[in-house]
Amino acid sequence: MLHARTAQVSPHLAHNYEPLPVVIASGEGAWVTDAEGVRYLDCLAAYSAVNFGHANPELLAVAHDQLDRVTLVSRAFENDQLAPFAAELAALCGKDMVLPMNTGAEAVESGIKVARAWGYRVKGVASDQANIIVMNGNFHGRTTTIVGFSDDPTAHDDFGPFAPGFRSVPFGDAAAIAAAIDENTVAVLLEPVQGEAGVIVPPDGFLREVRELCTANNVLMIADEIQSGLGRTGSTFACELEGVVPDLYLLGKALGGGIVPLSAVVGDSEILGVLRPGEHGSTFGGNPLAVAIGREVVRMLQSGVYQERARTLGERLDARLAQLVGRGVVAYRRVGLWAGVDIDPALATGRHVCEKLAERRVLAKDTHGSTIRLAPPLVIDEGDLDWAVDQLSAVLEDL
Ligand code: PLP
Repeated sequence: MLHARTAQVSPHLAHNYEPLPVVIASGEGAWVTDAEGVRYLDCLAAYSAVNFGHANPELLAVAHDQLDRVTLVSRAFENDQLAPFAAELAALCGKDMVLPMNTGAEAVESGIKVARAWGYRVKGVASDQANIIVMNGNFHGRTTTIVGFSDDPTAHDDFGPFAPGFRSVPFGDAAAIAAAIDENTVAVLLEPVQGEAGVIVPPDGFLREVRELCTANNVLMIADEIQSGLGRTGSTFACELEGVVPDLYLLGKALGGGIVPLSAVVGDSEILGVLRPGEHGSTFGGNPLAVAIGREVVRMLQSGVYQERARTLGERLDARLAQLVGRGVVAYRRVGLWAGVDIDPALATGRHVCEKLAERRVLAKDTHGSTIRLAPPLVIDEGDLDWAVDQLSAVLEDL
């Protein structure tokens, strides 16, 4: 029997979200269980923050151990997990310096500050004249600076006035970037794959062209890999799919193992080294609990197992999704274990499909109109993945 609940939105919660009517009480692997004991297959993985699965035993063991020792000392002092974390994460990225923060938006804000300071102190841009090129359709978080350069009216409207210094160009259009670069450009900031926009994969060669343009014009390439990074696309970073190495990686979400918020800016010391003591910081940034978990995340990624799972399961997902095209699905994009599926808008909104999927015990999330995003934990079983697509197929047949 299908399970349906009515949404009970708390009057005490700000209404900045419109969750599906599911109240989760526990989770294990790719599955979560609601307060009444009903199990759901999680095909969102907290927007890829739970890449390693719910209650991952290796991550939990590290977290429990660290909880019993020390959890927060602030950056007024060092903690014994921080320097090893920085060294290990830097090595994973092929860089030499790490700036630890907490949320993704903080990593983006930090990347913007670093790029501007680099522009003034290293590139020689005149004071307060720096500009950063961003992409149409971007999603980098919710702070006022970041939403100021979003073209999504829901994210942007009524939250101004906004910080100046950003120029937006079409995603995937290297010529538009070339035209927008001037002597005051300090960075190009982009998501290698635009997640919130609907898993939009840029045209082949785009990231390589951006890399070449940035190098030729002494401009930093900043890759926001907060959603695309750390295994999701079948490689550690989505930039690797084109063999590109950005100047700065922005990381978050899965870096905290789905247990704690942990984000970072990672780059070489010629760039990240521009920050001087007192110019930037965060009370919780680099706290021992978060970075102990982050160290385990790095170790897990070093094994390559999760990237491999994303590749093979992703191909399986692709084969199944291809069969739905013309049967309620108009198109889909897929990279690794990450897909944006466009439902025929004449049939249903993405939201409606997600509600119907939830009744069939599959949790997914719509994004913009009739697109739904599938991004299950990378630990999902093959059979469960097939079952999730079976449920989508059944939902589409009933529309
Ligand atoms: N950047 C990207 C690409 C994201 O997808 C997100 C969140 O979805 C963010 C930044 C913001 O991260 P957070 O919600 O942790 O601030």
